Amino acid sequence: MEDLCTLQPVGPTACIDEREQSIITTGRSKTSIACTNDSLAGAVSQRACVFCGARVVLNPITDAVHLVHGPIGCATYTWDIRGSLSSGSEMYRNSFSTDMKERDVIFGGEKKLAACIDEIVEKYHPPAIFVYATCVTGMIGDDIIAVSKEASNRHGIDVIPVESSGFISGNKIIGYRAAAEALIRLIRPKEGETIVPTQKLNLLGEYNLGGETWLIERYLTEIGVEINVAFTGDSTVAKLKKAPGACLNLVQCTGSMHWVARKLEQTFGTPYIDVNFFGAANTAESLRKIARFYGDEEMERRTEALIVREMARIRPEIEWYRKKLTGKRAAIYVGGAYKALAIIQQFRRLGMDIVMTGTQTGKKEDYENISHLLEPGTIIIDDANPAELEKFLIEKQVDVMAGGIKERVLAYKLGIGFVDHNHDRKECLAGFEGAVTFSREVYITTCSPVWKYLKAPDKEV
Ligand code: SF4
Repeated sequence: MEDLCTLQPVGPTACIDEREQSIITTGRSKTSIACTNDSLAGAVSQRACVFCGARVVLNPITDAVHLVHGPIGCATYTWDIRGSLSSGSEMYRNSFSTDMKERDVIFGGEKKLAACIDEIVEKYHPPAIFVYATCVTGMIGDDIIAVSKEASNRHGIDVIPVESSGFISGNKIIGYRAAAEALIRLIRPKEGETIVPTQKLNLLGEYNLGGETWLIERYLTEIGVEINVAFTGDSTVAKLKKAPGACLNLVQCTGSMHWVARKLEQTFGTPYIDVNFFGAANTAESLRKIARFYGDEEMERRTEALIVREMARIRPEIEWYRKKLTGKRAAIYVGGAYKALAIIQQFRRLGMDIVMTGTQTGKKEDYENISHLLEPGTIIIDDANPAELEKFLIEKQVDVMAGGIKERVLAYKLGIGFVDHNHDRKECLAGFEGAVTFSREVYITTCSPVWKYLKAPDKEV
């Protein structure tokens, strides 16, 4: 296996010395990238905080109340953070906060938290409340576990603490773990409850941002498989509690859900497989994997028929975009590695050159997989900051970037096209249809006439 990467110091204008090992260039040495570390203080990481990491995972549970124990800013900053779609309750789109003030910081906020829970139960009757710790409540030592337990006994509903104080790590992935632990607490059957085994599957790490969960459900229904529950797009508390009854767990967002999948395997014996429904080739491969798991010849036949039909339907459109985009230079900076891998494949399918790829939370094996898909000389960057991104966007003469909301402004300011592939987006980018939508978005922004009217730094007009 040819390995990575040369360390290439990126110069005083962009790179802090301690960050050098987190930026590599493919194909020139045996040194692998430094990743999964806490962000460097002062480097202005693109990552969000631990609490934010927990909330993005749990917030799509539609009928739960998400109560943020802390100053109002933490709740406002993450309000409706996923923008996930719901087929039922809209409770999750509210942002509840204990609104801690100076007095609470000095004398403690536990009584206020208990009173808030009582008020929420009285007014909204939710089936579950997630209580998130923030920096302030973690620092003053409020015992959210004890308060949640007492409230749960008092009201007879799940009140689940999420130990997500922002300061406990400089890596958002610790927030994913806090959310995963909260999910397992919710799912674990209570005394006297039984698990009813089914032939359905759970879809882990799918958040229904633009209706992806519903699209995947449509494909699975066609091949003869039923989704038990998605974690956590368009889920409900009652559906999640049935998760142990599934015969298989699919994991899409590996960063947020591998730990949950392993826990479900250890506790309930449910196997899991990784899937990826971004990109037509990935979608086809994922459907085949699922059909193979069931070992049903008729299901495999239906799966092949679906793939042949959908591929034939989208091919002419993808080819049209390919002609327009061949040779354009693309950059990727996203949260999770599974998304980066999918976008690399999609850009390549469009004939584009990928000159930079990075993630907020990729692991060593993720970066190995990424590097094997890329041409020598490509920049790979972990836990980037705006100065580093700017440097490479200019240096590599990028035409279009795929990223999230924090990268969008940077790209536009530099006169570069931008495709939103984060949890803020509204377009469904999954499946065969999503592959066409993605290609259209890339084309519209990359080939927009607007760029010739802009004069960006170091960019010829
Ligand atoms: S938890 Fe801490 S870092 Fe996160 S938003 Fe609140 S104060 Fe900021």
